[in-house]
Amino acid sequence: MTKFTDLGLDQSLLDAVSDLGFEKPSEVQEKAIPILLEDETDLVALAQTGTGKTAAFGFPLIQKIDSNSRTTQGLILSPTRELCLQITNELKLYSKYEKNVNVVAIYGGASITDQARQIKRGAQIVVATPGRMKDMINRGLVNITKIDYCVLDEADEMLNMGFFEDIKDILSNTPDEKSTWLFSATMPREVSIIAKKFMHSPKEITVGAKNSGASTVQHEYYQVSGRDRYPALKRLADTNPGIFSVVFCRTKRDTQRVAEMLIEDGYNAGALHGDLSQNQRDLVMNSFRKKQIQMLVATDVAARGIDVDDVTHVINYQLPDEIETYTHRSGRTGRAGKSGISMVLVTRSETRKIRAIENKINQKFILKTIPTGMEICEIQLYHLANKIKDAEINEEIESYLPAINDVFAGIEREELIKKIVSAEFTRFYNYYNKAKDLNSSSSDRGERGERRERGQRGGEVPTSGSVRYFINVGEKDDYDWMSLKDFIRETANLGKEDVFKVDVKESFSFFNTDASVTEQVLSTFTEFKVDGRFVNVEVSKNPGGGRRGGGGRRFGGGGGRDRGRDRDRSGGRNKRRDGGSSQGGGGTFSGKRRSKKRNTDFF
Ligand code: ADP
Ligand code: MG
Repeated sequence: MTKFTDLGLDQSLLDAVSDLGFEKPSEVQEKAIPILLEDETDLVALAQTGTGKTAAFGFPLIQKIDSNSRTTQGLILSPTRELCLQITNELKLYSKYEKNVNVVAIYGGASITDQARQIKRGAQIVVATPGRMKDMINRGLVNITKIDYCVLDEADEMLNMGFFEDIKDILSNTPDEKSTWLFSATMPREVSIIAKKFMHSPKEITVGAKNSGASTVQHEYYQVSGRDRYPALKRLADTNPGIFSVVFCRTKRDTQRVAEMLIEDGYNAGALHGDLSQNQRDLVMNSFRKKQIQMLVATDVAARGIDVDDVTHVINYQLPDEIETYTHRSGRTGRAGKSGISMVLVTRSETRKIRAIENKINQKFILKTIPTGMEICEIQLYHLANKIKDAEINEEIESYLPAINDVFAGIEREELIKKIVSAEFTRFYNYYNKAKDLNSSSSDRGERGERRERGQRGGEVPTSGSVRYFINVGEKDDYDWMSLKDFIRETANLGKEDVFKVDVKESFSFFNTDASVTEQVLSTFTEFKVDGRFVNVEVSKNPGGGRRGGGGRRFGGGGGRDRGRDRDRSGGRNKRRDGGSSQGGGGTFSGKRRSKKRNTDFF
């Protein structure tokens, strides 16, 4: 196993590595860092999003520049302002034990004179968006004629955004005898053109399969009719109570509209698109990073390169026009080694596009069904129960307790539980109680009314078909769908294909088996303990869809008002909402992510 200490990095940088908590180099770091440190060479590095490319070029760059000189020696081009700031921030952390290293970010939407002033003070490394960089070169505010290193980060995204000409212009202002390091998730034609035109026999490294999205992402699609997109979106959110997601729309208008509808319906949502002012965008991104916004509705351009770890779901409200764009979207989740889900809402006529994407990303999509209202109710009910169980007791209520106890006097524990849960749950139930089936598959036309009810029937253990179970372990216990599946299979001694539709929530989960093994499952998990704790399996009332996902979206409690509309007919009436602020309950976000990572806040 390669360690950071094997790569040839100076002690000051290794100290920074350990402060960052990086235990071992990622694959792209392991491959790129020694090459870049040893040789003066051009490099093309292909690695998926979230694989640690910033450090792969950042550490060698910092080590190689001469910090005693004030000359600009390294230029990093990156597609968006957000990315520029992220990279700058990272580089500052990497160089914290280096004296005199100055890294300056240059991007549009902020004062060009301020940026010029910072450059003038002496920045050995400049991190820039192509547009602003070109602007500053033209105005003579920055000098890149002496750089030794040029990094093209997220090259595919930059070219996708139409920066080809700008990049060409910028590179023509740089010396020939520099080294160019190109980092990209994918290798579309334009990237190879840049590599051919501006690089000299670059070394190449590839991490993972070319042109594929992060393999930790599961791709799912849901067939709905066009007018059911919005209610379907809500159901996806409601089935995943701890969702932390980016929702992609095709146009700025749709982005704003969907965000507004979600906010009105009580979700913690916000909009991110180019019609918002820089200030508004900063506010939204800030709330998103803090997880006050659980659903960030964004256009492709505005969301480019957003590097927020822990995004649990990417939702394609509409499919993008370009297949390539899909890779960028789904790359917003499954970062830093975590798993993620990319969901796509399609109409039946769009299904063929799914096939095209599958070919491109070399991964299969799973056809899922939009959960029924009653399935959602069941999930929310368990979620609520667990939330109450796990609630931290607020000492402030102490002095009011005698009075509160008076109110509850004479109510039995069981009755009290029923009442507490009902108080929160009934509103939810009322909304979903009569909700229709939203899936538009060819077979279910005309029988929607019947299918809708399927969740409420049953109850007793079926003897044929598939059985859905509830189990009282979940993400909190460090399970994901794969590990839980293994656990159940091994414990109950079942075959490889016997356990399916494993759906892991924050503190509980669902799974299916064939009815023929129900006895076996239930008898295994009778009085079954792990680490002294009872692991309980029960037959769920709902046959269940095949969703999976994590956490628990809160309901009731401030945010849950007015879910009574599946579609907002009056919505989108140009009620500009300043990008959508987070709303409800002081922005509490109940979906605790387990691995608490460094929280980078830039604004
Ligand atoms: P990319 O540019 O390839 O999409 P980033 O450089 O933005 O990926 O890194 C993604 C995340 O992984 C960041 O939060 C970063 O701090 C973290 N990271 C990078 N390298 C390591 C490492 N060696 N160990 C642990 N975390 C890392
Ligand atoms: Mg990156």
